[in-house]
Amino acid sequence: MDRIDFRSDTVTWPTPNMRVAMAQAAIGDDVYGEDPTVNELEALAAAKVGKEAGLFVASGTMGNLAAILTHAGRGDEAIVGQDSHTYLWEAGGMAVLGGVVPHPLPTDSIGRMDLAQVEQSMRDDDPHLPRSRLILLENSYGDKNGYPIPLHYFAATRALADRHGLAMHMDGARLFNAAVALGVSAADVAQHVDSVSFCLSKGLCAPVGSVLCGTAVFIHQARQVRKLLGGGMRQAGILAAAGIIALNEMTDRLAEDHAHAQQLAQGLARIPGVIVAPEQVKTNIVFFHLDDAIPYSAAAIVAALRQRANIWLGDHGPRSFRAVTHYWIRRADVAFFLEQFHDVLNNSRGEAVGDSVDF
Ligand SMILES: *Cc1c(COP(=O)(O)O)cnc(C)c1O
Repeated sequence: MDRIDFRSDTVTWPTPNMRVAMAQAAIGDDVYGEDPTVNELEALAAAKVGKEAGLFVASGTMGNLAAILTHAGRGDEAIVGQDSHTYLWEAGGMAVLGGVVPHPLPTDSIGRMDLAQVEQSMRDDDPHLPRSRLILLENSYGDKNGYPIPLHYFAATRALADRHGLAMHMDGARLFNAAVALGVSAADVAQHVDSVSFCLSKGLCAPVGSVLCGTAVFIHQARQVRKLLGGGMRQAGILAAAGIIALNEMTDRLAEDHAHAQQLAQGLARIPGVIVAPEQVKTNIVFFHLDDAIPYSAAAIVAALRQRANIWLGDHGPRSFRAVTHYWIRRADVAFFLEQFHDVLNNSRGEAVGDSVDF
């Protein structure tokens, strides 16, 4: 990679081993169930997350949507964190395509809905009301520095869901980051939910795809939903081959990305004008902010970093940033970024920071 790209772990390129495996993959028509590499990936994924079966899908968004549409129908309600990916960042798919009514609730500093509030949200059996059907969870929680939510929260949520006959789906886009950070297996993280999806294409470096996992019956139904969403792919083994490498070679090393995120957060904390909470950083995402003393907008700083150092950073509102570490960012890249970020804030070269300096 020719740039240092902190915008997301989605920017990762496949590893050399993936390129080789993709070139050599055995293939067939997966809509007929005949692609041996897709079948292998689906079985491997299911085993890794402790479920009976898996379904290879084009994206995390498709995995979540296929899960929601399998669990719930028109007029059913899904209880969901108001800053979760399924509610906020998936174009309203559950409502648009499924007629599923989202019931958003606030989350705490690590991404948990208050379970008393979840329970209060349950609908009575009344013709006026939508039907409570599903609880949507996320781990790690993207909007909260990718926080790995401890497992007892999901056990308690399970007990509540069982009392009211609701299903639980986990958006585990970064499930393996959560597992590594919690020091448990991915199957442990997913043990309390009926279905879970995770991304191969983020920190695990595969170029495309996610896997949705659940019971064999559930996945059989989800396979039809995937088809209806236009997600039935043909010789998808070429993509699945990279996914197999992702699962076999790329999960344990996520600890490195977490260490780099910690290095980044601690370095930022030493730069005057930056607000950051390193103790909240447990995986590979760091949110940070400018205090009032800094006379530049986040967008101007992002532009300056790109121009002077080929560092790509995401601005996240007028005074905030998000940095995500991944396989293609090394320890030295983080150090270089910190030095450049410090320089830009202090305008040490006497240069204008972007065009929109806002004093
Ligand atoms: C990235 C992500 C997804 C899915 O993203 P796609 O870009 O559709 O693959 C879902 N949930 C979370 C929390 C994510 O970070």
